[in-house]
Amino acid sequence: MPLLVVQPSSKCDGGCSSCRWNFGPRNEKEGLPIEALDRLKELLNNFKFDECILLCPNPLFHPKLDIIIDLIHEICEKTTIFLPISITRNLLNRKSLEKVDVISLLIPSYDSAKVNIQLVKTLVSQGLEDIEAYVLLDSNRGSAEVLSTIDLCKRYGLKITVGPMFYDPPRTSKFIEYLEKREDAEIGLRYGKKYLYNAIKVFLKDYPVTVLTSNGIEDCRTLYIDPYGYFSKCPTYGKKVHFQNLTSDALRKMVFSRCPVDNSVMLSPRIHISLVAKNGVEIPSDVLELLELVFWLKSFRGACRAMGVPPSTFWEKIKTLEKELGTTLLISVRGGRKRGKTALTEFAQKLLNEYANAKKNILTAFYK
Ligand code: SF4
Repeated sequence: MPLLVVQPSSKCDGGCSSCRWNFGPRNEKEGLPIEALDRLKELLNNFKFDECILLCPNPLFHPKLDIIIDLIHEICEKTTIFLPISITRNLLNRKSLEKVDVISLLIPSYDSAKVNIQLVKTLVSQGLEDIEAYVLLDSNRGSAEVLSTIDLCKRYGLKITVGPMFYDPPRTSKFIEYLEKREDAEIGLRYGKKYLYNAIKVFLKDYPVTVLTSNGIEDCRTLYIDPYGYFSKCPTYGKKVHFQNLTSDALRKMVFSRCPVDNSVMLSPRIHISLVAKNGVEIPSDVLELLELVFWLKSFRGACRAMGVPPSTFWEKIKTLEKELGTTLLISVRGGRKRGKTALTEFAQKLLNEYANAKKNILTAFYK
């Protein structure tokens, strides 16, 4: 699922001890240029991300946050805003907060939760209900302290996620081991991805808590925009392009290229799945990957470019496969308003569903 991560502001009042964001004073007042999102919308050509994360530093410091949120709505299905729980009260702009789908409160310690939990009541009393407690788990925090923080958040009926600072590797394995020894804890199965990470559900006295367990780099489809308008796949991957020089090709490569950085200490599976049709014809993994990209990009050429393969190569392969299967896989629409679009046939859509399920099942088994 394609994910957009945007940092509108370089200024913050969070005071988290393990903060990794140090942008310095440059453009602190203005924040992210609106033109950067205009340019993105223009190049996306009706493509939509599944989710946008408006990430800290505190987005509410951006003077035109409302405009940013309106633009994000046009290019993303869902918007989550990350706010430090120690946010300065007079910054709480209800109008902006009403426009997002989820408010995620970043909680760096038990003390910051205890001192600032009143904020939750303030938000709820303003009718803002979809609030998540994002309990930071980094090398400074022990499992018992994290559990106390969770207990505090449970009292307010908050959705709870335990995870690292964004783009840092999760340090949750010790926490899971700690929970495994507790009678009041039940460890659920891996259920998929949340934000940038693989996630599992744990039940603490039957209260569901999401724990982010590993980098979701297997099929990372993300785009990152920093407060100065530089685009990249992620802040860890150094190659970045300023919005004034951004092209649709560069954008496509950023979102759909494989994760270039293996910053995880653990092994990460690279999965190649092929499917066999009833008549014994094999549909190889690169074709399945191409079909997945055509589904997202609605363009055969765009999908080939994202895979770095000349369209002629794949065209031959697709035509041969269609003959062997006795059915078509792609529908290309030429001319008129929908000029140059490519769609999957019903059969190809079924293949893609099988492919996605197989990938999910393998990853679930791998992380069990
Ligand atoms: S809220 Fe984010 S940017 Fe602000 S101090 Fe905490 S980690 Fe850093």
